[in-house]
Amino acid sequence: GILVGMVPGILTDYDSPSTNDNDVHHQARRRRTFAIIAHPDAGKSTLTEALALHARVITEAGVTHGKQGRHASMSDWGTMERERGISISSTALRFEHGNVIFNLLDTPGHADFSEDTYRVLTAVDCAIMLVDSSRGMETQTLKLFAVCKELGLPVVTVFNKWDRPGQETLELLDEVQEATGRLPVPLNWPVGIAGDFRGLYDPESGNYTRLSRTNAGASLAQADVMSPEEAAVDAGDAWEAAREDCDIAVSLNGNFDSEEFLAGRATPVLFAAAASNFGVAPLLDFLVNRAPAPGPRPDTGGTLRPLDSDFSGFVFKMQSGMNPAHHDKLAFVRVCSGTFQRGMTLRNESSGKPVSSKYTHHMSGRDRDSADESWPGDVVGFSNASGLRIGDTVHAGEAVAFPRLPHFNAEHFRMVRGLDPSRSKAFARGISHLEEEGTIQVLYRGFGTSQTPIFAAVGVLQFDVALDRLKREFNAPAVVEEALPYEMARDLYGPDPVQTAKAAAIDVVYRSNGNPVGLFRNQWKLGRTMTDSPELFGITEDEAK
Ligand code: GDP
Repeated sequence: GILVGMVPGILTDYDSPSTNDNDVHHQARRRRTFAIIAHPDAGKSTLTEALALHARVITEAGVTHGKQGRHASMSDWGTMERERGISISSTALRFEHGNVIFNLLDTPGHADFSEDTYRVLTAVDCAIMLVDSSRGMETQTLKLFAVCKELGLPVVTVFNKWDRPGQETLELLDEVQEATGRLPVPLNWPVGIAGDFRGLYDPESGNYTRLSRTNAGASLAQADVMSPEEAAVDAGDAWEAAREDCDIAVSLNGNFDSEEFLAGRATPVLFAAAASNFGVAPLLDFLVNRAPAPGPRPDTGGTLRPLDSDFSGFVFKMQSGMNPAHHDKLAFVRVCSGTFQRGMTLRNESSGKPVSSKYTHHMSGRDRDSADESWPGDVVGFSNASGLRIGDTVHAGEAVAFPRLPHFNAEHFRMVRGLDPSRSKAFARGISHLEEEGTIQVLYRGFGTSQTPIFAAVGVLQFDVALDRLKREFNAPAVVEEALPYEMARDLYGPDPVQTAKAAAIDVVYRSNGNPVGLFRNQWKLGRTMTDSPELFGITEDEAK
């Protein structure tokens, strides 16, 4: 059933913390690593706060930096972020509820940052899709659902802002199914139409949780739970209507089925008003009881790496600019197997070089014993991580590699030019730094980085971010020129890809490592080249069709 209100320590399904703290399976079972994704403005920040409030925030990743414990909340990073009120960098927020540890990885809040969001989503075990009920499926909602599908991520859907006038419940469910192909399975049902939110019906227990108006704002919702009989008196027709509609949805789409959820064929649905802290407890309850714990992850060879193997993890995010004077870098690693302990001997699989684990930021548990340890599902921030790149695997013991994150198909291309000739070295350094960090893709007309670089972006806001960082962090003011007349880019493969591409009148540019990239003016040209020369794209003739 649904856990109402906040009752710390109620969860007894998990072994007591004292018994087998050192057992990696036990530690993994207690963890939930997830992200909240949404079209901007759906209420992600509001829900994050509400969740943390219901649970209890214990630590924020990356907040303590250096020995003195100097605090710099990650959301404070970057002046642009503050000025524009958009979230550019990802935060890992950690909180505990009962004996379960949540790692909530934040995804950038702007519609343009899908590349960064994608990387964060490779590091989580499930996603919460937050939808503004009055708006339904929006462009970013659909894109994100598609990304989750590609990554095989289970998604729970939360319809937020139910206190606002909006669409019909059943219509919203239809929309989800049509747009995403996932079967929406209601876990609770709103009593009262959108705009007149009275409370929630729980089809499993049959109970009614009344929305208590006095609880709006920052206090914990101490919700009233009522029996069906009491609900009928309290909510009258609205109660009957909710039960009828919910029964229809359940009879059409079935009850919650763990297998269907984990396989991405069904998406459980919850209703909420995050701004009033309402509907947050059932979500937390869902995460505790039904969301997946970290499991074995496939390496590049497709072999599942057991949780109790030596420590391993991969870099899903690079962050810098906390201190512009020092170009300091923080690499965020998702732990996939084993135990991480500060000071342990580690290697970067891609370079074979040692990685210092001395300067790391953990999200630590409440008890001191675990303060220096991380387990599968956790995130560890490595500082002074200049040798690490996005996608690198860090491991103890025998080498292992997790699949590298893909390059995104950029859609916007502009030449970038430094404005101050005396800063040309800083400009070049900045460009390669931004590329390494995955802020923007950088392409060159020919081999060697002495040429005018081209910024290739998935979303146009990336140009602003890159230019802002060049100026602020590298004191290398730059401008981008007019948009180049291409709509897509693809990495080129096969024997002699440059000759083949040029023969097909495709413009070829290069990544900094020398890999050729074809630029296409439109979908038609790309499609035609794929049919004519599938080997260029590393695919077979059949796949090209
Ligand atoms: P984000 O862009 O997804 O992080 O959205 P925010 O959390 O910043 O919320 C966007 C706006 O929606 C803010 O003005 C919130 O106060 C408001 N909001 C969030 N949740 C609710 C809700 O449940 N009901 C109503 N009416 N407004 C909400």
